[in-house]
Amino acid sequence: MSKKITGKYKVCSVIGDPISHTLSPIIHNTLNQYCEREMVYVPFHVTVSRLEEAIKGAHALGIHGLNVTMPHKQEVMNYLCEIDEVAQKVDAVNTLVYEDVGYKGYNTDVMGLRTSMESGGIEYTHQSVAIIGSGGAAYAATECVIQTAKHIHLFNRTLEKANSLKAHFEKYYDVPIFVHGIEEEIEEPIDLVIQTTGIGMGAYKGSIPACARALLRQAKYAVDLIYNPWETLFLKVAKEEGCKTINGFDMLFYQAVRAYELMNHCSLDKALINQVKEEIDTLAMR
Ligand code: NAP
Repeated sequence: MSKKITGKYKVCSVIGDPISHTLSPIIHNTLNQYCEREMVYVPFHVTVSRLEEAIKGAHALGIHGLNVTMPHKQEVMNYLCEIDEVAQKVDAVNTLVYEDVGYKGYNTDVMGLRTSMESGGIEYTHQSVAIIGSGGAAYAATECVIQTAKHIHLFNRTLEKANSLKAHFEKYYDVPIFVHGIEEEIEEPIDLVIQTTGIGMGAYKGSIPACARALLRQAKYAVDLIYNPWETLFLKVAKEEGCKTINGFDMLFYQAVRAYELMNHCSLDKALINQVKEEIDTLAMR
């Protein structure tokens, strides 16, 4: 960082467990530089048992805004003064904004995914959508597409979790949601497949969800929320099948941009966002 930190600086943070892999400080501090904002963004390792203390302590210290990552996105909802409507629907919070009486919680993953699909040429409106997975990321993906989807087919290893997701969204929307096991093949045509499980990264690098090949054979668009590796086997197969594809890196970037705007009560210029994105892209694991 080229500027000296003075007493006027504000602090923002990301908390999670683990946290050392996070790319959020790079994105937020690059935005700080471009915006010439007197602000520094730092990672804190916070375990589940100390989450409540951490949120109270952050507020006492006047920490301006926080991002919340795994495994705290749901638990943190218990320690906030208010929760935004989208975050309530997704049942997870990833951004906290300072208010006098506590933090207000938001979910910027939905907008991050939406913006990444729009900028990547993925048509998500009026489509038959398959979502693989039923964890936190699948909730964000469902909220992202459900308002305009023809119908949603959910594939998950644990049917109970997929049924919970279905029941949750049926409280808000009347778009049909069908639940399938992760190995099931279906007859109905699918336009867009969104892969939200961890299959393809870490210990599962080189693997693909069992249902994916059959879905990709008929799909036009494919999104994998994983960005490390840059191209999962799911995306490789999708390309071979002629799908237009994106990985999860732009979702990460755009959710961070939206979090930055919320924390700093500002709206960033598109040209500036694109400039920062170019710089961040060169750092990403291509
Ligand atoms: P999560 O809540 O733990 O959910 C994990 C999901 O993956 C569940 O549906 C789980 O199925 C499934 N799964 C995991 N291992 C599996 C296996 N071996 N076989 C079959 N299914 C398996 O996690 P999450 O928060 O949804 O995150 C999921 C992925 O999305 C991660 O890779 C994360 O990095 C990525 N993500 C990316 C972004 C981004 O900005 N790009 C944002 C959020 C998340 P069960 O229900 O059967 O356990």
